Amino acid sequence: MATLKLEIVTAESPVFTGEVDALIAPGTVGQFTVLPHHAALMTMLEPGELCLRVGGQETFMAISGGFLEVLDDKVIVLADAAERADDIDSARAEAAMKRAQEQMRRPLTGPEQAAAEAALRRSLARLRVSERRKKKRGDRIT
Ligand code: ATP
Repeated sequence: MATLKLEIVTAESPVFTGEVDALIAPGTVGQFTVLPHHAALMTMLEPGELCLRVGGQETFMAISGGFLEVLDDKVIVLADAAERADDIDSARAEAAMKRAQEQMRRPLTGPEQAAAEAALRRSLARLRVSERRKKKRGDRIT
């Protein structure tokens, strides 16, 4: 079966290199799926969840926005930040979420509003990915 060669890179370090069957990414107009033989594409990503599908298993990562390029079954994700579930500090994400929500209750300029919304989306993505991991662990125990 055809696969995609995926590379996820942040400014700080490479985060993932490997083959996946499919990738679901948070685009600016909603989630989209990249499968093998996808047309060439270059697009921006919003803060959200990245889902890597390999052999029927799904792994989720939180990304804080960036770019995605598809060319000849090779996908490159350049993210501002990307974390696997295990690397997410959920207390920190929760604090960031509350800060952003508080910020959004005040009168803000356009850029301040956009920054607070982006911070909120980043924190929610981290909390969702971290929560999925906890649920998966719980499933295994029961
Ligand atoms: P905070 O306000 O908590 O710093 P942020 O959304 O402003 O959150 P970013 O600017 O997106 O943070 O990320 C800065 C660095 O901190 C990146 O390396 C990112 O991976 C890491 N990071 C941010 N939040 C978390 C978290 N909750 N758990 C683990 N790493 C995090």
